[in-house]
Amino acid sequence: MKAKKCPRCGKSSLYETRGEYRMELPPNIAGPTVVVADAEWQHCNSCGEDVLSKELEQAINRKCRRRKKSTVA
Ligand SMILES: [Zn+2]
Repeated sequence: MKAKKCPRCGKSSLYETRGEYRMELPPNIAGPTVVVADAEWQHCNSCGEDVLSKELEQAINRKCRRRKKSTVA
């Protein structure tokens, strides 16, 4: 497995990860955990940082936006 440098801690423990990405929402935002199936991102084994791909960020944004709309309506 190839490891990249982590932008947070600077250690070479960033690994490609694939699977179901779960994003816990901060306490000030109401709602269930955002789950993206079949996602790809990079996870640091040293500090636990998740570096998301643009595609994954967009998928999460879409889910959050949809939820906001549905709560307003
Ligand atoms: Zn790190």
